[in-house]
Amino acid sequence: MPRHKSPTRRRMHRAEVTRIERTSPSFITLTLHGPDLADFEPMGVDQSCRFFFRRDGQRELAMPTASHNGWLAQFLLMRPAVRPWVRLYTVRAFRPEACEMDIEFVLHGDHADSGPASAFTLHARPGDPVGLFPEAIGYLPTAQSQLLVGDESAVPALLSILEQSPPDLIGDAYIEVPTRRDIRPVAAPAGVTVHWLPRDDHTAVPGQLALKTVTSSWKVPPDQRIYCWVAGESGLPTGLRRYLVKEQGVPKSDVSFLGYWRHGKSSHG
Ligand SMILES: Cc1cc2nc3c(=O)[nH]c(=O)nc-3n(C[C@H](O)[C@H](O)[C@H](O)COP(=O)(O)OP(=O)(O)OC[C@H]3O[C@@H](n4cnc5c(N)ncnc54)[C@H](O)[C@@H]3O)c2cc1C
Repeated sequence: MPRHKSPTRRRMHRAEVTRIERTSPSFITLTLHGPDLADFEPMGVDQSCRFFFRRDGQRELAMPTASHNGWLAQFLLMRPAVRPWVRLYTVRAFRPEACEMDIEFVLHGDHADSGPASAFTLHARPGDPVGLFPEAIGYLPTAQSQLLVGDESAVPALLSILEQSPPDLIGDAYIEVPTRRDIRPVAAPAGVTVHWLPRDDHTAVPGQLALKTVTSSWKVPPDQRIYCWVAGESGLPTGLRRYLVKEQGVPKSDVSFLGYWRHGKSSHG
């Protein structure tokens, strides 16, 4: 059983920021537009893409141009002075007819310790150039009964999965967010119970509340095959996978676990 599925066409696309919307206190949605997105291959659900943007002081956005995995070698050979930042983000929405994509960014840390992507989002202006390189989906369900769990970095993926699910999907979705003001309406199938978990504690490590809640209150329903998708700060997917496989007897092949970021560690690139 493959752990992810990649798009067939993978090349760099140029776009620019056209809209900036504060979705809730901890999230900003950027709308990106460009004719170069016309042949972007959307896969839906939790599809991610590499998001390239300028470093402070760079006037131009220089980007690798190679298709498929060739971009990485090219990126590493770029002089540090011209090399852009790159981070992974979920394609929250894609509108091919308008050549538009939405990405929803978590704002984390205060100004001094936020990461480059979070800071870029906070200061983004219409016209800012960006690069987008399509990546894979990790949501590959093996059963119609599901457990979906994530912290705030996985909110865009979780909401896309729920919005795009068939109406007969059943199960539970646990969504941890920084504050109760980040809770919003969700378009989920009627058989899915959505549990919002606001931390309301800026000192807590993201993901731990979801981990504690699920391991103390969720069990595999009797006589049901269940597919589990877990994403967020790496302690959440690794801790929950252990619980699901070792304590709940879920086969490893029915668990997709995705470490989206690591507490205290900056992403590569
Ligand atoms: C497949 C995939 C899809 C993703 N989709 C999304 C998405 O749609 N939206 C989204 O916001 N993120 C998403 N992420 C996570 C995002 O890539 C990371 O949060 C990334 O580290 C942010 O980059 P940065 O430059 O802001 O911070 P970095 O430079 O990577 O890190 C700087 C500091 O900030 C901390 N940090 C990083 N991310 C967070 C966070 N979310 N909350 C609190 N502290 C953090 C780090 O631990 C580090 O101490 C996704 C990751 C993957 C792998």
